[in-house]
Amino acid sequence: MITYALICDNEHKFDAWFRDAGAYEEQHRRGIVTCPVCASAKVEKALMAPAVSRGKAEKVSLSIGHPLHAQVREAIRALRNKIVSEADYVGERFAEEARKIHFKDVEARGIYGEATREEVAALIEDGVDFMPLPSVPEEHN
Ligand SMILES: [Zn+2]
Repeated sequence: MITYALICDNEHKFDAWFRDAGAYEEQHRRGIVTCPVCASAKVEKALMAPAVSRGKAEKVSLSIGHPLHAQVREAIRALRNKIVSEADYVGERFAEEARKIHFKDVEARGIYGEATREEVAALIEDGVDFMPLPSVPEEHN
């Protein structure tokens, strides 16, 4: 069994258990992975905060107290939602699909999904122009 931290399109975060990664992919594809709070089937794996979890050595840039915070959060949320609603979700095949797009083996299109750190490093090495899907900073109030 594996557990995934998931998030729905209403920003509800929850954990769900699956037999294995394939079981998650299959159930996700069939739209039967739903949010326990709002029952939305628009669910995806929550991104860990990679910059924070990577270890002490790496620093992250942060800010506090600026009146633009709410606006930035809203803009990121809107942009993220736009990408998620318009791009194809390719799950763990992201690196593979991104490479196909980069090397023009397939027609250019927007995709999003997950990749391991090793896959990300390899994509950078190959000069593939991708970016982290922006994650909305948590509101702690
Ligand atoms: Zn929800």
